[in-house]
Amino acid sequence: EERTLAMIKPDGVSGNYTEEIKTIVVEAGFNIVKEMLTQLDKETASAFYEEHSSRSFFPHLVTYMTSGPVLVMVLEKRNAVSDWRDLIGPTDAEKAKISHPHSIRALCGKNSQKNCVHGSDSTSSAEREIKFFFKDVVSG
Ligand code: ATP
Repeated sequence: EERTLAMIKPDGVSGNYTEEIKTIVVEAGFNIVKEMLTQLDKETASAFYEEHSSRSFFPHLVTYMTSGPVLVMVLEKRNAVSDWRDLIGPTDAEKAKISHPHSIRALCGKNSQKNCVHGSDSTSSAEREIKFFFKDVVSG
């Protein structure tokens, strides 16, 4: 079993996609190990997306991620990291609607920024991100 960090971003929560997304998660065979509804502040959102801090879109990303509550989840299954990335689809939701019409981002994302959900991109980022939000969860 492997764990990944999934997040329903502010547009997903405010658009009332939470229940639909959680149904997809469970039907895809993931176990929701932990979940937390939380409002990110600027400092937390900046730290979470630290790797993008030099990008031009970073200030917009922080504004977007702090615009409302997010639902953070730890998902568990075999190949959780890559299976969740496959399920959410490409970063740009506009492209996802064409190339991956059944993906979660096609369902509830808008564009390359407002893309509704997050998923760790590797097992090492999953470990970092799970610790970031759930310091008491022992991974593996
Ligand atoms: P995430 O890390 O949220 O799962 P990702 O790994 O698919 O998304 P990244 O390249 O890591 O994509 O970008 C992180 C987030 O930054 C994206 O999910 C999106 O919200 C925002 N973002 C990425 N590229 C752009 C862009 N060109 N313009 C605006 N926002 C962007």
